[in-house]
Amino acid sequence: RSKSAGRNCFTIYDEAMSAELEARNTLEGDLRDAIARCQLEVHYQSFMDASTGARRGFEALVRWRHPVRGLIPPDQFIALAEETGLIVPLGEFVLRRACADAAAWPSDLMVAVNLSPIQFKEADLFEVICAALRDSGLSPQRLEIEITESVLLERGTENHAFMERLKSIGIELALDDFGTGYSSLSYLTAFPFDKIKIDKSFIRNLTHQPRSSAIISSIVTLARGLDMSVTAEGVETQDEFERLKALGVNFAQGYLFGRPLPIDRIELDGSAAGSQRDAA
Ligand code: C2E
Ligand code: MG
Ligand code: MG
Ligand code: MG
Repeated sequence: RSKSAGRNCFTIYDEAMSAELEARNTLEGDLRDAIARCQLEVHYQSFMDASTGARRGFEALVRWRHPVRGLIPPDQFIALAEETGLIVPLGEFVLRRACADAAAWPSDLMVAVNLSPIQFKEADLFEVICAALRDSGLSPQRLEIEITESVLLERGTENHAFMERLKSIGIELALDDFGTGYSSLSYLTAFPFDKIKIDKSFIRNLTHQPRSSAIISSIVTLARGLDMSVTAEGVETQDEFERLKALGVNFAQGYLFGRPLPIDRIELDGSAAGSQRDAA
């Protein structure tokens, strides 16, 4: 940067920064209110058994119903929630809501809940999960917890012990977004996962890139050897689904089977969950 331009640059930079900071503070305040005022919603997206085509369960995905901005997707507030610590009450809300909703579904359906690495640092997370199960009456065998590799990078030993504790009560563990992070294969042997979820970026290229097929088939082989199952996320077309079945993937999730929907719009055995609940 030239010396003469320097001063103005800094001024502009300062202004841009304070505007960004202000927007961030507003959003943070709004998010705090949203949690208190129950403006968060949990939507559900089904995942299927690839070999039978039967629905196996639903993944819980949070949304923020903002009074002015409308429905905000998680990509726009999870990072902020993590930075501010708001992910802790937010995560507990999602977990409790998901367990309570799933307890009313047919008992062969699972519910998968995403947990943030920040939640793993909370000393009482195990008690929080147990309380959500107890209060909802949901059997632990029907709860699956999805975590990303970033959880394994830090506090490896503590998190390993914690994961074993979850498994000991029957909760299933899935490694989410596999293939996007460091994806060290040693994580797969070192941590007690039941399931690997292959990131949608690999599925997106499946039809055009033979290399993606090779990667998926290696993951399937590896998972089998380690006694884990494999989910393909982001399945959008019948062609992708056929290829994934041929590659031996166990579960499939994506727009082909349905978008994430509010609880009263998901279909359980042909009837909407909300109407069943209302009738009960
Ligand atoms: P994720 O856990 O990997 O969830 C899958 C994402 O892929 C969801 O985005 C889902 O709507 C989207 N998706 C599903 N099928 C398709 C498809 O066929 N094509 C495409 N293009 N996308 C598909 P969503 O709901 O926007 O969530 C984004 C991420 O936000 C999630 O990724 C998860 O990492 C995070 N997230 C969502 N809810 C929670 C939560 O309650 N707690 C935490 N910690 N993170 C959450
Ligand atoms: Mg997930
Ligand atoms: Mg994922
Ligand atoms: Mg993802």
